[in-house]
Amino acid sequence: MLTIENVYKSYAGPSGPVPVLDGVSLHLSPGSSLALTGDSGSGKSTLLHLAAALDQVDSGEVIVNDISLADLDDSGRAWLRRHHVSLVFQQFNLIPALSVAQNISLHARLAGNADHDWIDALTERLGLRELENRYPEQLSGGQQQRVAIARALALRPKLLLADEPTGNLDETSSASVMSLMLELVRETGAALLLVTHSSAIAARLDQQVHLTSGRLFKDSA
Ligand code: ADP
Ligand code: MG
Repeated sequence: MLTIENVYKSYAGPSGPVPVLDGVSLHLSPGSSLALTGDSGSGKSTLLHLAAALDQVDSGEVIVNDISLADLDDSGRAWLRRHHVSLVFQQFNLIPALSVAQNISLHARLAGNADHDWIDALTERLGLRELENRYPEQLSGGQQQRVAIARALALRPKLLLADEPTGNLDETSSASVMSLMLELVRETGAALLLVTHSSAIAARLDQQVHLTSGRLFKDSA
């Protein structure tokens, strides 16, 4: 579902390019999950952005759903993001002017792929039924993240990319949000790449890798 092959990425610094990813490879099969850990600034979000076709590699290859991103133009990348890849961020990124129900169905509707029974089931399973008519500012952090997870899964993505999704939540709501997310991801058969600081959360996924000095190492967690 996701293959990253010998990827290099650097950013322009004041005195020349600053390397961030220095030959990174990984493979994620459909339905499998991978936890990515690493110090702040090690390049975790950069790697996720490359997998999401939000940014481009300097060299190497990113393949999503058997499509090499290098073969796509801007509109091809936008199409891939819209139909096959969902993201969940630490900052939730809900649309303030839309209700909970509207936020949940937004991406699926934009993709022309709104399955109302499935959206209804997600709303129920994530405990959002009573909150459907509220607006994001009227929700707790844990509730906002449950809306973001429902929105991400509503279009049944092939690949879910989550960047420290529980980083802004307290321990109790982090644990329950993570349990729900992992359970629903397994049901959809999506592949999951999850960035986390928590080794306890990382241990709940199929594989664990650690990013340091631009390279990935397998964790023996
Ligand atoms: P992490 O998510 O692991 O904390 P990031 O991928 O966000 O790390 O960042 C890795 C490094 O790349 C950091 O040193 C950061 O400052 C730098 N960086 C990230 N995005 C940009 C950008 N758009 N332009 C320049 N430098 C960037
Ligand atoms: Mg980051």
